[in-house]
Amino acid sequence: MQQLKTLAAELLQLLFPNLCNACGQPLVKSEHLICLSCRFDLPYTDFHLYVDNPAAKQLWGRMTCERVTAMLYFKKGGRVQQILHGLKYKGKQELGVLLGELLAETILQSNKPWDIDFILPVPLHKKRERSRGYNQSLCIAEGLSTGLQRPVYKNVLVKRNATSSQTKKGRFSRYENLKSAFSVEDAAKISGKNILLVDDVITTGATIEACASALHLAGVATLSIAAIAYTK
Ligand SMILES: [Zn+2]
Repeated sequence: MQQLKTLAAELLQLLFPNLCNACGQPLVKSEHLICLSCRFDLPYTDFHLYVDNPAAKQLWGRMTCERVTAMLYFKKGGRVQQILHGLKYKGKQELGVLLGELLAETILQSNKPWDIDFILPVPLHKKRERSRGYNQSLCIAEGLSTGLQRPVYKNVLVKRNATSSQTKKGRFSRYENLKSAFSVEDAAKISGKNILLVDDVITTGATIEACASALHLAGVATLSIAAIAYTK
C-alpha cells in the first residue's frame, strides 16, 4: 500500500510539478511550497509559548541553554516527515528557507523575547555537504535570519571528518566520538555573544549537546536552540 501511495505521489509530481511538500496535493497559484490547508493544520507544538516545553526539558541537565523551541511534531509517515524528506533528500532548499521564516514568526510571538546576536546552523561533514549539495540547517538558518533580522555565520561551527572506524564502534564510543566531532573555527567571533543554534529536527538531542559543548568552550554568553521538528 505504501509503495502504491509513493508511486501515485510520483505520478502526480509528473503531472503537477507544483505539489504541496507536506500533503502532496497540487498547489494553487497563490500557494508556495506548502498548501494553505497544511499551513494552518500542521501539527504545531506551540513550544515557543512556554519556556519549560518538552524539547527544553529534554536538554536540561545536559547543557546550559537559554531558550529552546521546535515548531512541529514529527511523526513517522506524517506530513512533517514528508516536509523534512523534501528538504534533506530532494534538493528543496527553498523549503528550508520558508520553514525558517515560519519558525522565526513563532519565535517573535514568544511572550518573553529571545536575545540573539547571531545564528549558527548545525554543520554537516564537508563530505556529506558536498554529496547533498547543501546543508539543510543553513537553509533554515537563512529563513530565520530574514525573519529575526540577525546574521548567519556559516563556517564558525564546523564538523570534523568522521573517522573511518566510527560505524564499527559501540553506542557509547559513538557518542564520545560525536562529542568531539564539532569545533569552533573562530572563537573570537562568538565569544560573549548570544547564539541561536539551528537544526532540522531534535530527536535524542545528542548532536545539539555536542555542538553546545564546543560553543560553550568557545565562550558564548548564551545559547538558544531552534528546530523545525521534534520527535516525541
Ligand atoms: Zn498540503
